[in-house]
Amino acid sequence: MAIRREDVFVLKRFPIRETSLLVTFFARGAGKLRALAKGVRQEKRPLSARFEPFTRLSIVYYEKQRSDTHLLSETVVLESNAEIRDRLDRFGYASYMVELVDTFFGAHDPHPEVFDLLAASFRELKRIPAMDVARAFQVKLLERAGLVPALTQCVLCGQSDLPQAFFSPRQGGILCRRCDRGETGTIRVSHGTLQSLRFFLRGNMEQAAKLKLGRQTERELDRIISKFLQFRLEYPLKSPLFLAELKPILSKIV
Ligand SMILES: [Zn+2]
Repeated sequence: MAIRREDVFVLKRFPIRETSLLVTFFARGAGKLRALAKGVRQEKRPLSARFEPFTRLSIVYYEKQRSDTHLLSETVVLESNAEIRDRLDRFGYASYMVELVDTFFGAHDPHPEVFDLLAASFRELKRIPAMDVARAFQVKLLERAGLVPALTQCVLCGQSDLPQAFFSPRQGGILCRRCDRGETGTIRVSHGTLQSLRFFLRGNMEQAAKLKLGRQTERELDRIISKFLQFRLEYPLKSPLFLAELKPILSKIV
């Protein structure tokens, strides 16, 4: 068993037996990894609080060669990110972000840039409306996962001068008016929305999250991304349902 040290975010955790936790981390150097935290739920000195979702930790673990579940040895809290868990809107959107990371990346698939994106997004969540951060995050994450929709020219014929553009979840990009005729399930996209999407991809997280969008652009963007995700994922994500239930409550308190 090799001993490893990693800078990680907690994605999720499950109780195991009476006293332990099975924790899924996203590690900067190793990508997604699962480790058993033994004895952390013991009554006398519970350590389970440090494994709350979104917490950033420095961990030392024993890497098991024949199993996907490693054994945790030491943990140091680097950022508790309690401010994210303390507010319902931040918690809801951060849960959506970690669910996307958990869904798109498997074990043994390191993506330090995704780790940095999560770190930047959690920082922005404490300052900027959660929905704006999540919107920029999901576009940038799709890019990092190599799934970014083609947005500069028609994906079928290559035409780049597009007076009207239509987004095709199936083709993974935009279509010109002519190519759109043969496609079903496309969504008409305004120029403002396309420009915003391109800006999200170009800028860093801080700039992307601060971009002020009109209501129509927001609605279009949300529709495009959710259709694209529906098409790409084999099963629906859980957190969008939670967010949909949350929306009427949030509109009153945020
Ligand atoms: Zn075309």
